[in-house]
Amino acid sequence: MAWRSVGWVFGAVLALALPTTATAQSQITFASLATPSGGPSRVFGSYAAGCIAGAMPLPFDGPGYEAIRISRNRYWGHSSLIRFVQEFGRRLHTSGLPVIYIGDISQPRGGRMGFGHASHQVGLDVDIWFELSPKPRLLPSAREEPLLRSLVLPDESGIDDSVWQPGHAALLRVASQNPTTDRIFVNKWIKRRLCETTDGDRAWLHKIVPWYYHNEHFHVRLVCPPDSPACIRQAPVPAGDGCGKALDDWFVPPPPQPAVPSPPAKPRPPRYPSACQAVLHAP
Ligand SMILES: [Zn+2]
Repeated sequence: MAWRSVGWVFGAVLALALPTTATAQSQITFASLATPSGGPSRVFGSYAAGCIAGAMPLPFDGPGYEAIRISRNRYWGHSSLIRFVQEFGRRLHTSGLPVIYIGDISQPRGGRMGFGHASHQVGLDVDIWFELSPKPRLLPSAREEPLLRSLVLPDESGIDDSVWQPGHAALLRVASQNPTTDRIFVNKWIKRRLCETTDGDRAWLHKIVPWYYHNEHFHVRLVCPPDSPACIRQAPVPAGDGCGKALDDWFVPPPPQPAVPSPPAKPRPPRYPSACQAVLHAP
């Protein structure tokens, strides 16, 4: 879910409220802050318009997983998300699966990022890479550009069977069966492969949702935690395994474009909870 528009800036508000310090504070954005606010983990707002107080750092190494791209400083999450990753890694480890890479979670106080994601704003989203090749244990600083292969062919015509292996379905099943998982975004071809090859228990397919991209990594979204009543939940995933028409629709070619396309609708800026201003400016 790429998002390249200009970030949401509190500076305009501050410029009116605090004229003497406006010049310095007008530059403050969530993307510019290097540390979390204090206190327990609390989520405010929605996955694509919110923030987090008291975010916790994911330890860079643990059984079954390694954090990558540390330099981005996006390894901060709600305590439930940190527990999820650690539990997920332990389960993979005991299953004998190779170490997997953990990518972006959220910024230290969440909020909109300068590049790369529309969501990941409240410490409840995490990108987990599909790469299942054996990995030498490297220092965190040496994990900026690791091998990250796509499971989908370069022309997007189907699954790349030279990369796909049953362990990829196992990754998604283990992640889906965690009770704190709300949904998991994957490429449509990956969802279709799961629909075609899963025997026996198919209940876990319910949480696997097709979305754009997500061919090299999957995106786990956790439910709003009970300690955060100001967290805005997303509409539930429709009932069932999601393998019928809803998936087929992803493979229908788009209708031809009119000769003169109408101008795109201007997206409305998302509304942030006022509590996020306090999170932004907390010491
Ligand atoms: Zn993501």
